[in-house]
Amino acid sequence: MRTSRRRIFSGFEEMRQFIKDNSCPEPYSGCWFWMKSVNPQGYGSTSHHGWLVKAHRFSFEAFNERELGSLLACHKCDNPSCVNPGHLFAGTVSDNTRDMILKFRRPRNLVTVGEIKPRKQQSRASTVTEPDVISIRKRYSEGKVYMRELAAEYGVTKKCIHAIVRRITWKHLP
Ligand SMILES: [Zn+2]
Repeated sequence: MRTSRRRIFSGFEEMRQFIKDNSCPEPYSGCWFWMKSVNPQGYGSTSHHGWLVKAHRFSFEAFNERELGSLLACHKCDNPSCVNPGHLFAGTVSDNTRDMILKFRRPRNLVTVGEIKPRKQQSRASTVTEPDVISIRKRYSEGKVYMRELAAEYGVTKKCIHAIVRRITWKHLP
């Protein structure tokens, strides 16, 4: 029998923490990039105690504290691997299609965020800026510092530093 997520995670707070621990915010887009595996369509997922976590869907449920059921978690941004709950909305299959059509007509950076106001989102302030990213990459490439030291210095997770150094996030920067 499939284990229910309720038995794996003690509650929504723990689910939210799981999302935060496995994603990295990028202030440039506001997206939280999923740090674990990404399927061929670009959607984040991971296996957690034998249970498949569909990252963006899981994030929506964790931050909105409700089950999606037959609805989809749709992206307002163009990044399927994004798990920022503020970039997600619950929609039907036709909403999703309509949204995709609208996005093609709309300039990329004008995607608005607002229908969903997750309670905990504000607590996640990223402390990494564009100059920081350049500096982090330079210092790490020079071999003078460990990822964990950079993580402590910038107040982000080691995974986040790893993603910056390996150019998983902030791809537009040198
Ligand atoms: Zn996003």
